[in-house]
Amino acid sequence: MKSVKFLNELPAKEQKDFFESFDTIFFDLDGVIWHSYVPIPGAVDCLNNLKKLGKNVHFVTNNSTKTCQNILEILKTAGINADLPDIVNPLKTMIFLLKKSNVTDPLYAMAPKASKNELLENGYKILPETPHVDMDQIPEILLHHDQAKEQTIGAVLLDLDLNLDYMKVQKAFWYLKYNPNSLFLVNSMDKTAPVGPKGPIFATYYFVECLREMLRVDNVNRGDFIQIGKPSQVMVDYIKETFNISQSNRVMFVGDSIESDMATAAKGDFQKLLVLSGTEKRESLDNWGYPDNYKPDFVAEDLGVLNDILKSLYD
Ligand SMILES: [Mg+2]
Repeated sequence: MKSVKFLNELPAKEQKDFFESFDTIFFDLDGVIWHSYVPIPGAVDCLNNLKKLGKNVHFVTNNSTKTCQNILEILKTAGINADLPDIVNPLKTMIFLLKKSNVTDPLYAMAPKASKNELLENGYKILPETPHVDMDQIPEILLHHDQAKEQTIGAVLLDLDLNLDYMKVQKAFWYLKYNPNSLFLVNSMDKTAPVGPKGPIFATYYFVECLREMLRVDNVNRGDFIQIGKPSQVMVDYIKETFNISQSNRVMFVGDSIESDMATAAKGDFQKLLVLSGTEKRESLDNWGYPDNYKPDFVAEDLGVLNDILKSLYD
């Protein structure tokens, strides 16, 4: 099995080889650049110094509770100069996929407001929210059945929706059942979402599985879900096409999660740098439980350490 290189333990020559081995660098945000939008010490300096070295710096996040515009503003407030096209989120890959699939019919979105707004801004119609229904009103629930059966939809989107309830899931099932050619789009299959010391909270995975089980039980004949966030193929395709990546080995992908970030890098044949400032700790490397090709090429404690190495070589 390939050995992992801790950047701070390498001789200066190999550290320099590392910085010269890529032209473009993608950063995950949560756990890499910041925690709850508070920058990790040294991260801002690190990004700016990489830009000074002439590197193309971009960002890839699965967080869809903020629009790319919101993220851009947070980056700028932190002192990172970026442009809107530099930021990739699942909404962008979703729109990329909807365009490629020629989807123009309305969408049923179980998603945060930010996601819905971004879809509306891109010209997509979103079906209205399903109102809460009292459980003693079965006839009212069945009216939703009739309405869903008659409605043509382009896609059902299931993202982290904090207002998800029985009726929304039931209606999603009906839309998927009666629109077998529609897309069933899922942001991520994360089981949990980090929310600080009181967390984590359960994430999208369980709700996707619930809908899949409902479709299975009802013998619905339709395509399975398509994941749009990391580590999906759609995300990798979007990145390669949008940033004109012709030599994937000249790309460095930096993340704090093996299953999300390192897996994305593996799919895209990018170089992999794992930081230990978020999801993964050293034990994840010592007790390796993932496919071998997810193994990072390099590891750094955090972007502060990466910045110290960069300064020691180039200042
Ligand atoms: Mg992360």
